[in-house]
Amino acid sequence: MRRKLIAANWKMHGSSAMAQNFVSELSLMLEKSPVKGLAYDVLLCPAMPYLGVASSAVEKCGSAIKVGAQTVNEFEQGAYTGETSLGMLQDLGVQYSLVGHSERREIYGETNELVAAKFVACVGVTDPAVRPILCMGETIEQRKAGQTESVIAEQLASVINAAGIEAFAKADIAYEPVWAIGTGETATPAQAQSVHQFIRAELSKKSESLADSVRILYGGSVKPVNAAELFSQQDIDGGLVGGASLDVESFAAICKAAE
Ligand code: PEP
Repeated sequence: MRRKLIAANWKMHGSSAMAQNFVSELSLMLEKSPVKGLAYDVLLCPAMPYLGVASSAVEKCGSAIKVGAQTVNEFEQGAYTGETSLGMLQDLGVQYSLVGHSERREIYGETNELVAAKFVACVGVTDPAVRPILCMGETIEQRKAGQTESVIAEQLASVINAAGIEAFAKADIAYEPVWAIGTGETATPAQAQSVHQFIRAELSKKSESLADSVRILYGGSVKPVNAAELFSQQDIDGGLVGGASLDVESFAAICKAAE
């Protein structure tokens, strides 16, 4: 049984106060007092400046909520203006990082090779680990041209080739059709399930046991109204939520759909 993961991607939104209040309110909504363990994992990915605030807030309320970054640099340190290293994330108590979000690929030109390098860097650090969530997905043009599976296969292969299949024991995947991100248009549960099943089949060519255990989240206009049906699909192990994660009540409702 794969444990579900519900992750919030706040993108370039929020503030210190928002991060702090969100953590305590979400914890109250999901984790009764005294804090009970959750049946699924919950992750908040605020913008870089608020990672420390969110981590401290989690610690303060003794919550099981995890904190993640939206991207990370592949190098240990050096003259990389504006970038953030894995060591810095570890320093702030960050346990996850998105890697290869479509906005990073499209707006900042991150290639499959760069995404693979970031993934390799993430799985290479331990004590504490920073678990990568490898994001992948096709554009509307690629879907219309019948290229969904070939695009996904290429995005996945570049990471498997660089990191090795065993690395997926320390990682999660998010399938995010680009045409569904921030558009209000959601893949139907059947469309999403079909791609998730394809991703698992690609992984199983290298390792059946890993293919079976890797969590594959769906992302793309997940909302309280569609979350339960998406999460009930056989190969969908939770969600990566953008817009609907900025409101604590709406995000809590999405989390509860994983119960
Ligand atoms: C995302 O940014 O990862 C995302 C899925 O956004 P939205 O939920 O707004 O479509």
